[in-house]
Amino acid sequence: MAKSTGIHHITGITGSAKQNFGFYTKTLGLRFVKRTVNFDDPSAWHLYYGNETGAPGSALTFFLWDGVKPGRQGTGQAVEVAYAIPKGSLPFWKKRLDAEGFATAESERFGDKMISLADLEGMKIELVETSSAANAPAWADGPVSVEHAVRGFSGITLRPHNGTRTGEVLKDGFGYADGGKDGERQRYLGSADIGAHIDIVIDKEQPRGSQGAATLHHVAFRAANDADEMEIANRIQNVLCIDTTEQIDRMYFHSVYFREPGGILFEIATDNPGFTWDEPKERLGTSLKLPPWHEKNRAAIEKSLPPLE
Ligand code: ZN
Repeated sequence: MAKSTGIHHITGITGSAKQNFGFYTKTLGLRFVKRTVNFDDPSAWHLYYGNETGAPGSALTFFLWDGVKPGRQGTGQAVEVAYAIPKGSLPFWKKRLDAEGFATAESERFGDKMISLADLEGMKIELVETSSAANAPAWADGPVSVEHAVRGFSGITLRPHNGTRTGEVLKDGFGYADGGKDGERQRYLGSADIGAHIDIVIDKEQPRGSQGAATLHHVAFRAANDADEMEIANRIQNVLCIDTTEQIDRMYFHSVYFREPGGILFEIATDNPGFTWDEPKERLGTSLKLPPWHEKNRAAIEKSLPPLE
């Protein structure tokens, strides 16, 4: 049976190119792995941050909707993005975030030490000491030493309106294992070194989420290739009776989308071809990449994009 090994990428919404670019590349020290636009609205950035190659399990991407109002974090959304840091790196990060004036809180989850904070627009971020993190490549030319650098995701917290069927999608659709409970948190486990912790929290006190800056738009889960993606999509359709889109070519991966029963937009995305198919690893994110159908408007698009720094 084709299984998903973990998160492929997570996509959020930002209203400020400068705040977003500054936080993720400078404070968190991630690599800006692809300089490109929203394919459906090429006057807007689609920002991609990841580890050395933006490997599956490391890419956080943002649609820039310039000046968009803040959304409300709540049910029907994925809310907290958890990044994986190597064991023993927590004191380094605490010191670094304190020095930059971030309010942080330390806690433990499933026995792993972690720090919670918010990015410059208020999106919730967690840094979790994850035992498998050191197996994933760090971005060696970034502002954080490789020893402590963020390796990719530890996982994601999903806050569906109703969790029962969301769990079915993760288990019966994607093939994740039952990872047990920690308080109100039910964990599902993939097999990848990064992005393998998918947690569901049902919180009836939380308001419904609404889309806007500092909220997450969707979560994409890995499929090894097109054949696995089709097999997983067929299970979602035929076993779980949930409608999906056709496969869509996103240049760096092939995608199938569906809204899971708890209200969160899910995507299945292939590991191939990845971010290095149209520029070498050494030069990732250095030149503007456009899909072929937007090439004729390159000059106008370049002019209309707001500065990142
Ligand atoms: Zn996506």
